Amino acid sequence: MIAIFSMVILSAVQFFLLYNTYKIQDEHYFINEKSIINDDYTLRIANDKIFPGGAKIIDDTVMENMDTLEYLYNYDRKAFQQYSKSVCLNIFKTLKQKNNLDSILAGIIKKRHLPQKYSYAVCVRNIDIAFHVNRYIKIYPFTENPNDNQEYIVGGQLRHINKQNLITDITVSTPIGHSYRFEFSLHLENANRNQLILLSTLPIFMLSLLSIISIIVLFYITYTNWIRQKKLAEMQSDFINSITHEFNTPLTAIMVANKSLQNEKIVPQNGYIKQLTGVIQRQTVRLNELFGQVLNLTITNEAQLKIGKFNINDIVAQTISDYQLKIENQNVILSYQSDVKDREVRLDAFWLTTMLQNIIENGIKYNDKNEKNIAVVLRQSQNAILLIVEDNGIGMSPNTKNKIFEKFYRHNNSAASAGGLGLGLFYVKQCINMHKWSIEIDSTETKGSKFTISIK
Ligand code: ADP
Repeated sequence: MIAIFSMVILSAVQFFLLYNTYKIQDEHYFINEKSIINDDYTLRIANDKIFPGGAKIIDDTVMENMDTLEYLYNYDRKAFQQYSKSVCLNIFKTLKQKNNLDSILAGIIKKRHLPQKYSYAVCVRNIDIAFHVNRYIKIYPFTENPNDNQEYIVGGQLRHINKQNLITDITVSTPIGHSYRFEFSLHLENANRNQLILLSTLPIFMLSLLSIISIIVLFYITYTNWIRQKKLAEMQSDFINSITHEFNTPLTAIMVANKSLQNEKIVPQNGYIKQLTGVIQRQTVRLNELFGQVLNLTITNEAQLKIGKFNINDIVAQTISDYQLKIENQNVILSYQSDVKDREVRLDAFWLTTMLQNIIENGIKYNDKNEKNIAVVLRQSQNAILLIVEDNGIGMSPNTKNKIFEKFYRHNNSAASAGGLGLGLFYVKQCINMHKWSIEIDSTETKGSKFTISIK
């Protein structure tokens, strides 16, 4: 939430920075060109107005009507307003007709090698007349509203008049009675202005885009890391729960058996003692195995193989026969078959045994059949020896199959029915990775699973 909030603020700041850069570029754009045009233009119309010949048009029209205007001003203000308006419109009309700025500006642009694509506007901003020295009466703009009729365009095609495209603003007045004051302005705009400004802001735009993208990437990485940490913490707490449970079961059994042994009524019965010590014996073995697994956990983090040359047939056969002792009184058929000629293979015997034991143990543990079949086969294939362990157990869904090698992973349903720490197959995978072997699993739910290890 805070991350998203700060992201929004950052984006807003970036946006304002960009916008300001654009505005600054916009204001400074064409500034040199503007001053060149200004110099040349003012030179060309020195002692004149708007364009060469413009002053005469205005002079003539104003002077022609000066007496009428003064009369009306003194005696009929309303009529004065109407009359002065028609005088102004008359001036504008003639100025428009006689405008010769097109060729003058084209000349300046060409001479100074300025951008060829432009449009201009020349506007009248103010006309005041004076019947007495310095006492000016506004006759244009027509209304008092400053937003209305601000400027009257008397030449050029440019329609957007603003401060950015202003070249010059000139006011001409004569400080005598029966004269007038006239203000006009020239505006010029490069046709490619927006593209050029955007182009000059492009590097900053790219940089800020890059910074926003890198921050998003950073957020993403932090977020995924956080999720991973969370998952790890969850897995660890699951592990602690299972470990407590796993250690508690044999401990409780030992404690109960021990209590019975201390019971004076039971001690004389010989048969009982054997049974109880049997329980203690089995549970201590179980505890020992559990300790071994937890210890392995720290060892496997920096596990190193003790590679030697071994007859693989012997090792597998030995592991199977040891295991058969363990499952004597259970309904388990553990079979072994091999078509591998006696061959020495470079491997770590301890790891191979652990791996095989873990897979067999799972085949029995995750099995709800009355008769549990575990078939171990050693087969010579073209370029590897295949160690196959097949069971007729509960099988796995494709989703479970993808996760079983993860550290601490236990499938919820099967975990409830059988004890374990979710480490067995993790060790199997470690062993396979360290030997650079490969493993393949075929599994059908309710039917059973088949683990095939290619030993090279
Ligand atoms: P543990 O047996 O301690 O739970 P493992 O790493 O050995 O941990 O197994 C992880 C999970 O894989 C088990 O919880 C079980 O759901 C599933 N699994 C492993 N072997 C088999 C099998 N032969 N048949 C069905 N499910 C299995």
